[in-house]
Amino acid sequence: MPHGEPIRIGAISIQPVFDGTAVLDITLFDGADFTEHQHLLADDGQLHVPVGAFLVRTGDRTVLLDAGVGEVHDEMFDGGALLDDLSRLGVTVDEIDTIVISHLHSDHCGWLDRDGGPTFPNATVHIGAADWQHFVVDARGGRRRAERLRTVEDRVQLIDSDETSIAPGITTRSTPGHTPGHTSAVISSGRERVIVLGDALHCPAQLTNAEWQFFYDVDRELAVRTRQQLLRDAEEHGTSVLPCHFPGMQAARLVPATGERRWVLG
Ligand SMILES: [Zn+2]
Repeated sequence: MPHGEPIRIGAISIQPVFDGTAVLDITLFDGADFTEHQHLLADDGQLHVPVGAFLVRTGDRTVLLDAGVGEVHDEMFDGGALLDDLSRLGVTVDEIDTIVISHLHSDHCGWLDRDGGPTFPNATVHIGAADWQHFVVDARGGRRRAERLRTVEDRVQLIDSDETSIAPGITTRSTPGHTPGHTSAVISSGRERVIVLGDALHCPAQLTNAEWQFFYDVDRELAVRTRQQLLRDAEEHGTSVLPCHFPGMQAARLVPATGERRWVLG
């Protein structure tokens, strides 16, 4: 699997790390019309999207944003490549000192644990407090996921404010809706900024159709409001966005167009 191109924000480079792929049936998008977005679809008419994480080196810190799906091979996910891709990038599991999980769906926290313990033994794991409540305390994603997450509990630091400073140039932003504690990472360097926004958006068609509701959004109306707010802010400030599942795990950035700005990928 080829490496994704690093995304540069000022002095910080954000490296996509691939774990595998997911198939998203387009009927998961309620009220969506893909007529003008056929180029996003595979031959079977569905979205085939990457699953993975982003590696960020900033100051003396080695940060992973999200943690892939893990060794899962089912109708939706085909994962398991993340550790190999990290080692091809010359990074060992011991070197990761900080992890920020956007939310506790299985394709974003899959590699947190392995063989009953943490995969990344030296990492502090930052998770939105409302997601910990929903998925672990209330076990709303099933007992199995809650039990697995309990095995890394002593590494976890809960995020319970709108903004938390994580590492030089990285601050979290509360972006609830897809899940109750969904958390984005805002990366800034110099005059440049990108919002790494997990699953606040799933496909590029939502850049111009933020009102499409997605089946797995826990609170669909709040997810739409959060998506609209994020995109309004990004457009106002010329900020790029970097969702987890866009083609090639690339960012969408704003370029000037006549009288407005336009989103382009890469
Ligand atoms: Zn996802």
